[in-house]
Amino acid sequence: MMEAKKLPEEYGSLVFGDKVMRERLPKDIYRAVHKTIVNGTHLELDVANAVAVAMKEWAIENGATHYTHWFQPMTGLTAEKHDSFISPEGDGSVIMEFSGKELVKGEPDASSFPSGGLRATFEARGYTAWDPSSPAFIKDGSLYIPTAFCSYGGEALDKKTPLLRSMEALSKEAVKMMKILGYEDVSRVNTTIGSEQEYFLIDKEDYMQRKDLLFTGRTLIGAPATKGQEMEDHYFGVIKPKVSAFMHDLDEELWKLGIPAKTKHNEVAPSQHEMAPVFETANVAVDHNQLTMEVMKKVADKHGYACLLHEKPFDGINGSGKHNNWSICTDTGINLLDPGKHPDDNVPFLVTLIAVIAAVDEYAEQLRLSVASAGNDHRLGANEAPPAVISIFVGDELARVLESIEQGTAFKSGDKEKMEMGAQVLPHITKDNTDRNRTSPFAFTGNKFEFRMPGSSVSVANANIVLNTAVAEILSRMSAEIEGLTGNALHDRLTELLKETLIAHKRVLFNGNGYTDEWIAEAEKRGLPNLKSLPDAMPEWISEKSIKLFTSHQIFTKEEIESRYEILLENYSKSINIEALTMQEMVRKDLTSGLIAYEQDLTNEIMQKKDVMPAAKATLEIGILKTLDDTSAQIAEKLETLKKDTLEAEGIEDVQKQADFYEKKVLADMNELRVYADQAEALIPDEYLSYPTYGQMLFSLR
Ligand code: ADP
Ligand code: MG
Repeated sequence: MMEAKKLPEEYGSLVFGDKVMRERLPKDIYRAVHKTIVNGTHLELDVANAVAVAMKEWAIENGATHYTHWFQPMTGLTAEKHDSFISPEGDGSVIMEFSGKELVKGEPDASSFPSGGLRATFEARGYTAWDPSSPAFIKDGSLYIPTAFCSYGGEALDKKTPLLRSMEALSKEAVKMMKILGYEDVSRVNTTIGSEQEYFLIDKEDYMQRKDLLFTGRTLIGAPATKGQEMEDHYFGVIKPKVSAFMHDLDEELWKLGIPAKTKHNEVAPSQHEMAPVFETANVAVDHNQLTMEVMKKVADKHGYACLLHEKPFDGINGSGKHNNWSICTDTGINLLDPGKHPDDNVPFLVTLIAVIAAVDEYAEQLRLSVASAGNDHRLGANEAPPAVISIFVGDELARVLESIEQGTAFKSGDKEKMEMGAQVLPHITKDNTDRNRTSPFAFTGNKFEFRMPGSSVSVANANIVLNTAVAEILSRMSAEIEGLTGNALHDRLTELLKETLIAHKRVLFNGNGYTDEWIAEAEKRGLPNLKSLPDAMPEWISEKSIKLFTSHQIFTKEEIESRYEILLENYSKSINIEALTMQEMVRKDLTSGLIAYEQDLTNEIMQKKDVMPAAKATLEIGILKTLDDTSAQIAEKLETLKKDTLEAEGIEDVQKQADFYEKKVLADMNELRVYADQAEALIPDEYLSYPTYGQMLFSLR
C-alpha cells in the first residue's frame, strides 16, 4: 500500500505530464509543446521528434516496452493496438526506437470499428492523431498516447475529435463575448468537467454464474430480495472492510495515472458506490473518466469483485449515473458560472447563466440525445433518476435574481460605464443555497452546472459536445446583438437582451420535485419535450435544427451527424437483440432446469407422503406445484412470443424502424416474460438455481 506521505511523489508517477516534460525537454521544445497544449496550435515535426525521444526514454525507464495510440471509437469504449519500441539491427540485436512521426500519427487497420457508412470497408484506413493536450501515461507495460481517430477523408470516427471542436467553438464565442463586455485580456476559455462515477460491486463468482450480467451487463431475470433499499441504510454508510480495501487500491491506481480521485462513498442502493474526481479540462476529464471505468474493473477483479457499470443492473434497485459537473473558466481565471464576491464579475456571470438557460431549453432534444443509450433508457424517468424531461434548477436566490431581470427591476442606472448591472441584485450566492435538489436533471450547484442524466457506462464526451456547442450558439447570437455598442447603448441593449432571452426560455426553469407526475404533466403544458427512449429521440438528431447547430460551429459535418445516427440506432438494436437472446437462453436453460428439478422433487415428495399416509392433504406442496405449473405455462407462451418477435426484429432493414420494433415489441415481450420468470424464481429454493439470486448478489459483500 502507498504510504500517505509518499502520495505527492507517487501522484502522476505514470504520467508524461507537465512536470516530466519540463524536466526532460530542452527549454525551447518544452515551450513549443506547452504552447500547443494551451492554445491548440500546430506542432512542428522537429518538436514532435524531440518529445518522442524524451517520451520513449521516460517510458522505458518506467518499464514500458510498447506504445499504443489510445482512442475512443464510437463503440463508446476505448481502443488500443500495441507496438513495441524494438527495432532489429540486422546483427541479431535490437535498439529501442520511437519517432516523432510515430508519436503524432498512427494508422490502425480500422475496418472493424463502427463508422455508419463514413468509411467503406475497402477503404479500411483510419488515422489516429496525437492529442498533446491530454497527457500520455503508462499502463500494463505500454506507453498510452491519447489520440483522435478519423477516416482517410478526415471525418471524425470518434468522440474526442468533436469534443475538442466543441471546446474550441465555445472558447471562440465566449472570448468574443468577454471582449465585448470589456474583458480585453481574455484570450481563451476552457471547459471544465468533474464527472462523478457510480458503480456496483458484486462477488466475481456470482457474476461469472450469470449469463445476463456477463453478456449484457444487467440482470434480465431475478426476483427481488426480501430486502431492498427501503431502509435507506446504505447511502454514506460505513464502508465494509473488503470494499474499503478495493477503494483504497482504486485510488492509488488512479492517482498514479494522474487522475485526481477525491471522494468515495456508499450510494443509495446496496452494493452501490461512487467515486468523484476533482474537475479538469474537459478532454482530459473525459479521457480520465474512460480510464477510471477501466481501472475500476481491473482493480475489482483483483479484489474478487465484478464492477458493474451498467445504468440499471438490477430491477427495483437504483440505477447508476454519472453526474457531469460542467463549468467554463477564462484563461485569466474567471469561472464564468461563479457569481463571485466581486460585483464586477457579475455581468459575465449573468450573461453566461442566461446563455446556458437558453441553450438547454432550445437544444433540450439534443442534450437528451447525448445521454441516450439502451441502458440509460431504463434509468431516466425511473423513480430514482431524473425524468427524461430536461429542466433547470437554479435555487431560490438565483430565481429571485432572474425574476428581477425579467421584470426589469434589476439594474438601476448607476455608473453605466462600469457595467455594474449585477451589483444591486446579486447576493453572495453560497453553494449551500443552491444544490440539494436531487431530482433536477440540470442543476446549478454554486459555481457550475451539474447535468445528472448521463448514464454510468457512457462516455461523457457526447453530453459535453452538445452542451458546449449549444452554449456557443447562444453566445454567438447574443454577441451579434450587442457587438459594436459601448457605454450606455451597450448597457441598455444588454439589459433588454437578457430580459428577452430569459422570457423566451424561462419555461425550462423548474425548482420543484422533478420525480412527480405533476411535473411531467406541467412540463407537457409548457411544451417541454419528453423523449422517453432512444428510438423516440433519434429523429431529433438529424432534424434541420440539429444539423444547423452542429454544422454551423464545425462540430460535425452533415455526413458525420448521419453516420452517428446510424451507429446509435444500430447499437441500440444490437444491445436489445443480445439481451433478448440471452434472456431466452437463461429462461430456457437455467431457470427451467431448476424449475423442473424442483417440480420433480415436489411431486416425489407428495407421492411419498401419500404412500405413507394415504389421507395426507399435502396442501402446501400441491399449492406450490399448481402455481409453478400455471406459471410455467405462461413462461412457455411468453418465451414463444419473444422468440418470434426477436426473429422478426432481426429481419427489419430500416435502422429506425428496427430500433422502434426492438423497443416497442421485443423489450415489451422481455418485460412480460420477466414477470412470470420472477414469479417462478420466487418459489424455487435457491439451491435449485444454477445462478445467484438478487439477495445473494446484493447482500453478500463483506
Ligand atoms: P457535490 O456535488 O456533492 O456538492 P462538489 O460540488 O464538491 O460535490 O463536487 C462535485 C464535482 O464537481 C466534483 O467532481 C468537482 O470536482 C466538480 N466541480 C467543482 N467545481 C467545478 C467546476 N468549476 N467545473 C467543473 N466541475 C467542478
Ligand atoms: Mg454532485
